[in-house]
Amino acid sequence: MDHFTYKNSALFAEEVAITEIAKAVGTPFYCYSTATLVRHFRVFKEAFADLNPLICYAVKANSTLGILKTLANEGSGADVVSAGEIHASLAAGIMPEKIVFSGVGKTHDEMVYALSKDIFQFNVESESELLLLSDAAHTLNKIASIALRVNPDIAPDTHAKISTGQKESKFGVPIKDAIALYAKAAKLPGIKVQGVSVHIGSQLTNLAPFASAFTRIVKLVKELRKNGHEITTLDLGGGLGIPYGNQEAPPLPVAYAEIVKSATKGINCQLIFEPGRLLVGNAGILVTKVIYVKHSDERIFVIVDAGMNDLVRPALYDAYHDIIPVHVNPDAPTELVDIVGPVCETGDIFATGRLLKLPKEGDLLAFRTAGAYGASMASTYNARPLIAEIMVNGSNYATLRHRQTYDELIHRDKLPDWL
Ligand SMILES: *Cc1c(COP(=O)(O)O)cnc(C)c1O
Repeated sequence: MDHFTYKNSALFAEEVAITEIAKAVGTPFYCYSTATLVRHFRVFKEAFADLNPLICYAVKANSTLGILKTLANEGSGADVVSAGEIHASLAAGIMPEKIVFSGVGKTHDEMVYALSKDIFQFNVESESELLLLSDAAHTLNKIASIALRVNPDIAPDTHAKISTGQKESKFGVPIKDAIALYAKAAKLPGIKVQGVSVHIGSQLTNLAPFASAFTRIVKLVKELRKNGHEITTLDLGGGLGIPYGNQEAPPLPVAYAEIVKSATKGINCQLIFEPGRLLVGNAGILVTKVIYVKHSDERIFVIVDAGMNDLVRPALYDAYHDIIPVHVNPDAPTELVDIVGPVCETGDIFATGRLLKLPKEGDLLAFRTAGAYGASMASTYNARPLIAEIMVNGSNYATLRHRQTYDELIHRDKLPDWL
């Protein structure tokens, strides 16, 4: 459920007309709904109410400060994958004791930064990383609290580019090696073993892979305890899918919670979750203007002013986004169209053969479910300025990020003195 709805044929975000925002800030822009974001956080939290988990929003899904701050106000922590994300999370008021640090390639500098901020947990993904972290912590006279991110070797049944929990994947420590590596970790200076973590992939629309992974991980926790490790945290990652159109019907958070509860019964750990997409995906839309409608021999191309640099998911993951008119014109003919961006890349295609009320040049379209992995993956390719990000709250709206200016676009450039 979200708060992007039509009133008299006009698309609104909560109580604000999308056309009103478009007039004020131009197109394209991302538009987020506070009510939707907060609702998703609360629904997830309430599904686990009796377990009181630490919910660490996966910042990479959308790291805009206004999004982070809205979630921080709800009590969210952060799952980060870089020092930059720690910086953004702290700037938004997320407490360091609610930050977990994931990722296969943490650098020494990033470890030092995270240690200096006293974050809650490092999810360590290899032996080399463990040794480097031990060294960094020991040198700084700090203790790094760690979980090993274990790869349970489960096929998550999602797109190959967002699968992380199979043995071929670069992520995590193979589950068969975990016991030995925990034994090693326990002896290292600067390291405190506190938990186990797992994250098997993203946009999972089936609960079975979660159930298998969690069962394997809980078994590991029991073995580790037998070996004398004090395991107090269990980080079950993110990955619960969301509907991008009518084709998908992912499980609700309550159903996911049932799987978790049954797998972790009696384990007595602080549970941690790292939802990203589930919280922000449906809380954002991308609004774009039709520049041209181009009829070629076989096809109708609707060329819009947003490109793959603004929303890369269709090009990168063959992702589907519902595309809807900002103003519904019942008299327009319904046509099969290709919706494409202006970027000079054949891959800059948002939808092929989509049935759509044929828009006119100048009309606005909205890409639904664009709140996650949209703005955070944007680039300036083709020297296109990063687009504005707007947040609606009831009948108010505000700019979270202004549209980059042309000067800002070249702001970091320097010419060497021989030019
Ligand atoms: C990307 C990621 C997440 C979030 O995944 P979603 O599918 O957005 O919920 C959580 N944990 C880790 C370690 C990740 O890399």
